[in-house]
Amino acid sequence: MSAALTDSELRRFGRHLILPEFGLAAQQRLKAGSVLLIGLGGLGSPSSLYLAASGVGRIGLVDADVVEETNLQRQIVHGHAMLGHLKTESAAARMLDINPDLKIERHDVRLGLDNALDLISQYDVIVDGTDNFPTRYLVNDACVKLGKPNVYGGVLRFDGQLSVFDARYGPCYRCLFPEPPPIEFAPNCAEAGVLGVLPGVIGSLQATEVIKLLTGVGTSMIGRMLIYDGLDLSFTTIQIAKAADCPICSHASKDIELKETVMACSAPVGRTMASSVLQARQRAGDDLLVIDVRNPAEWLSGTISGAMGLPMPEITRALNQAGPPPLPKDRDLVLVCQSGMRSSAVIRSLVDAGYDSGRLYNLERGMAAWTGDVYPLDAKEPDLQRAGT
Ligand SMILES: [Zn+2]
Repeated sequence: MSAALTDSELRRFGRHLILPEFGLAAQQRLKAGSVLLIGLGGLGSPSSLYLAASGVGRIGLVDADVVEETNLQRQIVHGHAMLGHLKTESAAARMLDINPDLKIERHDVRLGLDNALDLISQYDVIVDGTDNFPTRYLVNDACVKLGKPNVYGGVLRFDGQLSVFDARYGPCYRCLFPEPPPIEFAPNCAEAGVLGVLPGVIGSLQATEVIKLLTGVGTSMIGRMLIYDGLDLSFTTIQIAKAADCPICSHASKDIELKETVMACSAPVGRTMASSVLQARQRAGDDLLVIDVRNPAEWLSGTISGAMGLPMPEITRALNQAGPPPLPKDRDLVLVCQSGMRSSAVIRSLVDAGYDSGRLYNLERGMAAWTGDVYPLDAKEPDLQRAGT
């Protein structure tokens, strides 16, 4: 589909029109296209601004929250003048100021079981700018059922992720993460913090993917995941595959039922082991098996000598299937990830699957502590308590 451009639009989008790979045809497809932005927070801010500016014809906005002062550190579509106003109202005003020809549809609601299919069915491309797992799984499942591309972004602390999930041509979110982690391993930005500019990077990349999907220009991120490390300033792309036993996209559309995702709260199980203790026990020749549960891309930055690499999704998948256990049950296992959170979740899954919790150890603070202890940093930790008084 495409739509003719007015004289004013021909002037406005001149920098697009002179791109040989883009040109008039792509601009007309953008104008005929529609996007649903779910969440107008850190990720939705840059994507709403750039998509409004790009010439997308129709944009739906889903958010029920109001603008708060703590949002302004990263949610740059909102400003002081809009404190206390609905985020949809705030974003719509700014987007129309950028492009008065844009058609904006406000949905001042929380995405839920009652409205997800109706809202998502009305748009060509869906942007997941949510900050919680129940909504993220709902967006995924509804997009799979309706055959819509889901432009996914995730941010935490200094790290970001980006992919395009389209179950017609590649994996969905549940192919990678079949179920949400226990709630204590699923921190959000309010609990764990986020560098304000980080969602600016990932949200801008989401807008790029939307434009590519609507125009057919370039190669989409379907089947690939971008991992961004803001501290290192590194971008890594990994291939991601459809899971034959995915709880959602392995089923026919008519058999997919949307469900409420419940985040269970549970106490940590197993024991923790400090990196100094692990080093000492390895040197003493103790029979320990170290399992690095991070993603293969993360192993590139180094791992513990003698460690066996087995990513968390593979362990979870193996535990959910009949077949040999993914890890030996008769040895002491030390589970390792970057910060100690994923490894702790893996230990819970192993105990649930019948492993002896007395033989499972979580490397305390993960690779962050291991590398920190082996290569101590020069700078001293600031005394936070004193700084606060
Ligand atoms: Zn799937």
